[in-house]
Amino acid sequence: MPKPCAAKQTSTKNGVSMSADPAVPRSVEIYDTTLRDGSQLEGISLTVEDKLRIAEQLDWLGVHYIEAGWPGANPKDDELFRRTPTELSLTTSKLVAFGSTRRVKGKVDSDDTLRHLIDANVEAVCIVGKAWDYHVTEALGTTLDEGVAMVRDSVEFLRATGMEVLFDAEHFFDGYRRNPEFSLRVLEAAAEVGASRLVLCDTNGGTLPHEVEETVRAVVAYFGSDVGIAVHLHDDAGTGVANALAGVRGGAIQVQGTINGYGERTGNCNLTTIIPNLTFKMGIETIPRDRIERLTPVAHHIAELVNMPLNPQAAYVGHSAFAHKAGLHTSAIAKRPDAYEHLPPDSVGNGTRFVVSELAGKSTLGMKAKELGLDLDGPQLAEVVETLKQLEHEGYHFEVADGSLELLMRRIIGWTPEWFDVESFRVITDDTRGVDTLTGETGATVTTEATVKVMVDGKRKIATAEGNGPVNALDRALRTALNGRYPSLDRVHLTDYKVRVLDTQKGTAAVTRVLIDSTDGNATWTTIGVNENIIEASWQALLDSIHFGLLRGEGVANK
Ligand SMILES: [Zn+2]
Repeated sequence: MPKPCAAKQTSTKNGVSMSADPAVPRSVEIYDTTLRDGSQLEGISLTVEDKLRIAEQLDWLGVHYIEAGWPGANPKDDELFRRTPTELSLTTSKLVAFGSTRRVKGKVDSDDTLRHLIDANVEAVCIVGKAWDYHVTEALGTTLDEGVAMVRDSVEFLRATGMEVLFDAEHFFDGYRRNPEFSLRVLEAAAEVGASRLVLCDTNGGTLPHEVEETVRAVVAYFGSDVGIAVHLHDDAGTGVANALAGVRGGAIQVQGTINGYGERTGNCNLTTIIPNLTFKMGIETIPRDRIERLTPVAHHIAELVNMPLNPQAAYVGHSAFAHKAGLHTSAIAKRPDAYEHLPPDSVGNGTRFVVSELAGKSTLGMKAKELGLDLDGPQLAEVVETLKQLEHEGYHFEVADGSLELLMRRIIGWTPEWFDVESFRVITDDTRGVDTLTGETGATVTTEATVKVMVDGKRKIATAEGNGPVNALDRALRTALNGRYPSLDRVHLTDYKVRVLDTQKGTAAVTRVLIDSTDGNATWTTIGVNENIIEASWQALLDSIHFGLLRGEGVANK
């Protein structure tokens, strides 16, 4: 008979599996490198302002370390470290500057990188050095002894200034696999001269959890309690988070990673997943427990700042992480959520959602209404079901358009948006072909202009605006017409616009479905429009987005 897995090593306390393994620490430091390693992701370009705002979010969340950047590597990071002393006041996190060891055969006191680290004027620095012999002989083109000396000299020099120095052992796992003796020599050199943490990096990201655990365990055993071992893991094998948990099981007392797993190639290990896994599933303290509910808002806020939509399926913090579509089980989920959810969603700041589609019965819609705080009686629910079926037949898809769904349900119970009335709108797109006077080349200039006529507070307002496309022009014209009447609208902006053409094979006129994602900085919502005319479909989705934004910003009472 097969033995139950690891039955000897774990026990359960308050539903949390407690490890009896002495190697597993009781608490783990969270080291965030979103600003340095995370910003390597294709498509991310952060301004200094963005970086300061992200650092504030990380401090509010309560991570132990914030790696802010590499001073001297680019003007942006230089400016960041110049501004942090006056513009960033951290209450929980320690700010870290990142850099590398001295150059081959160079002198520490005339090394630019080391000088920049000192000038960054922070409490802690993390410096990277090569821990794989192959990289020392091939990439650096020097001897293994010099490779070790570069690490020792640099850590010693920085320690002499009184700063905390973490040593980042690049390609540690790959190096240790081939020449463990050299990789350990590098770590030893850093530890002997006072590095506070030895960071074992899986720089290529291809190591698997069992190997991470084994290796970390061996290194922890080698150093004993002399120095803390940290792990820095990339997600190239799709096991970044699992590797971090394995590293902690092996005895690592610090995990490095990024919010939402940002990072070059496939990303770093995702702290938004690691933190609740360590705390709630493994019973290991990370950030303060009462702050873990800040994870979802922080993940969304940072996604906003890096200007990339958060993956709805992200574990714990994604929009769909606790979304239920099962019509049959809806009432059971409401009664016994612990039977259908792996942990209470509010513990990470997320919430249960009931996904509504044409397949939804009255009970799912009832749950949805309750979730939105709406009081719908039986006949009203039946009317919602009927309306949904009809609209989904026409091409609407409310499962993804939560904003429009809420407006629809509110309208059925008698609510009408009274902020403004639309009289008409018009969009003109001009394609002007001509010869560029500078280059002499022939080309096209496309401009879009929209005019919107609305009634606000009993007055007729007409506004015209240009935009980079019809939706943008209409959005601007509508806002101009409203002329600051509703200040909460300033926070609302459109983040994504998707178009899909339906029924193309039927030979009849194609129907266009438009989805618009919007945000006010705290919440995001999706609205929908369907019409044979793409502009009309876009206008419906835009109007729903603005109405939903006003509903959030101004309240149901309208005025
Ligand atoms: Zn990295």
